[in-house]
Amino acid sequence: MDSVSKRYPDGTVAVDRLSLDIPDRAITVLVGPSGCGKTTTLRMINRMVEPSEGSILLDGADIRQQPVNSLRRSMGYVIQNAGLFQHRTIIDNIITVPRLLGWSKAKARERAAELMERVGLDASLAKRYPYQLSGGQQQRVGVARALAADPPVLLMDEPFSAVDPVVRKGLQDELLRIQDELGKTIVFVTHDIDEAVKLGTMVAVLRTGGHLAQFAPPAELLTA
Ligand code: ADP
Ligand code: ADP
Repeated sequence: MDSVSKRYPDGTVAVDRLSLDIPDRAITVLVGPSGCGKTTTLRMINRMVEPSEGSILLDGADIRQQPVNSLRRSMGYVIQNAGLFQHRTIIDNIITVPRLLGWSKAKARERAAELMERVGLDASLAKRYPYQLSGGQQQRVGVARALAADPPVLLMDEPFSAVDPVVRKGLQDELLRIQDELGKTIVFVTHDIDEAVKLGTMVAVLRTGGHLAQFAPPAELLTA
């Protein structure tokens, strides 16, 4: 991200000249208080929000040079409260993107079974609906769904904030294992500094007004 700013139409400056070099195949955490521009930053990466100024490069090319659909297919997206389709079963949630991409039902189901195992979901949950799962289980489905078409990038917006601390720890450990095994490039938003330090290969600390205060590995963060 090269000197990226976002000013919303009402004049709010959500992000102010943010430059970040997000490393490949690592977890970069954006951390800071509510309203400091974390979600806006994440959404500029998949073009759900367009920057007012500056540019974002992916593997050296401006993200505006490729069709937005192909950009989004290369980036799984996970949000707080999972955002699952409530009228679809767990397995149908997970295979949504592969089916849109034209995979056969058999291949998509095989992929879903493999992913459910990877994120720690029992196969018996496949035919249930989201409301029949706990909050932590729903977040696991959200992660599996985002991984379904094997995108190189995962964008995660407070994915574990709504679950209780014990379940959250399990989800964090799972994510570290997934990152280790699959080598995804992950951008992870949280307001919890402990979570940032635990998960981040690099941590970007944002301040109110959308300023970057620090960008460093957890061990090198200055506490103030
Ligand atoms: P965070 O994710 O760190 O809580 P956001 O990126 O959601 O921060 O918001 C940053 C700032 O931009 C806040 O002041 C928020 O109120 C404002 N904001 C977010 N979305 C909009 C919008 N669509 N229109 C106007 N202001 C917005
Ligand atoms: P948590 O402690 O993570 O919030 P819950 O108490 O919500 O967990 O759920 C515990 C177990 O009960 C989970 O395995 C979940 O799948 C199951 N469960 C929760 N709600 C329902 C439901 N409405 N129908 C069937 N199973 C449910």
